[in-house]
Amino acid sequence: MSVDYSKFVRKKINSYIKQLRYMDDIKETSPYFPLNVYIEAINGCNYRCVKCPQGIGLMTRKKGVMKFETYKKIIDQISDLAVEITFALWGEPTLNKYLPDMVSYSVEKGLYTSIITNGSRMFPELSEKIINAGVNRVVFSLDSSDKRLYEETRVKGVFETTLYNALTFLKLNIEKNAKVWCTASMVEHDNDEMHKQFIDFYSQFPFSQVYTSRYNNMQGSLPGKDGYVKERSRLPQSEWPVCSTPWHKIAVHFDGRVTGCITDYNGFCHLGNIMEEPIIEIWNNEKMRNMRKALLSKDYTSLIKQGLRCDKCNHKWDVSDFNNYAREVESQIVNEIMKKDKYFTVDSEEYKNVFKVLADLKNEKK
Ligand code: SF4
Repeated sequence: MSVDYSKFVRKKINSYIKQLRYMDDIKETSPYFPLNVYIEAINGCNYRCVKCPQGIGLMTRKKGVMKFETYKKIIDQISDLAVEITFALWGEPTLNKYLPDMVSYSVEKGLYTSIITNGSRMFPELSEKIINAGVNRVVFSLDSSDKRLYEETRVKGVFETTLYNALTFLKLNIEKNAKVWCTASMVEHDNDEMHKQFIDFYSQFPFSQVYTSRYNNMQGSLPGKDGYVKERSRLPQSEWPVCSTPWHKIAVHFDGRVTGCITDYNGFCHLGNIMEEPIIEIWNNEKMRNMRKALLSKDYTSLIKQGLRCDKCNHKWDVSDFNNYAREVESQIVNEIMKKDKYFTVDSEEYKNVFKVLADLKNEKK
């Protein structure tokens, strides 16, 4: 399937520019629907990761799998509003058997479609189906190049299986000339040497991008790196930056319920359900406006009553407050423009390296 990336880039840049203009005079009502809608295909997972509220048992809301009908309803409501959708949030999307059909539906509706996966179930047969469905981007959450560390943090995961699946996906991507943007990602760790090893190891393969993302403390519910929170707590609350998340992100849980914050893993801040109210109305409904109003006035007591622990959250506090949002947007535009150069061919060293490691992995299995 040939994809017109310039169409996505144009749509994205237009939307970024509108949002930037609007952010000069921000209000609790937002005239611009977010570029990207986060979709929870399922809220169950086969892993028990130590850096995930689902993995350590903090997610207590009802478990379920998104029905294809629910997904269709979301896509039909957002195809003219958003630019992309991302299968992410609180479960492993490849565990939803409709995933290839879901991908194909949103791609046909003109939405740039991304999947964030732990890779454990992305077996060659599923990879083939997902590529054929026209997926645009797949992020493999690989987290480590070291078997021991991988299996310590991604509990129940098997390093070799995930690596095998990710490399097979890369191989198919090149052989089919599918131009899926493939990323190897790692959540930041206290140990800088591990970051370097991760980047060095995965950069030898044909990933379009290898990166480490910032540790998210999930509204203070996860232990670990909290330097950002400590730094902020030295300031009076009136000087804390305003989090921009509810102005440019929205998430839909498996049952169609919408939350104004992507870190709201328990759905304490559900704003409405797309099965009962169109998402464009939820985007500026009373609950959403109250949440933004409390953020603008730094009323953390009201936010707690609304179900959000913004006072403890480290997501987007330092990098994406409104002053820095422009810089983030600028770098995203540059990334989009660079994307066209980041695909590999069968002649590349990176493609050949895939075969060497796949052969080693196969020998280990014997
Ligand atoms: S501060 Fe954290 S919890 Fe509050 S809206 Fe932003 S991302 Fe969500």
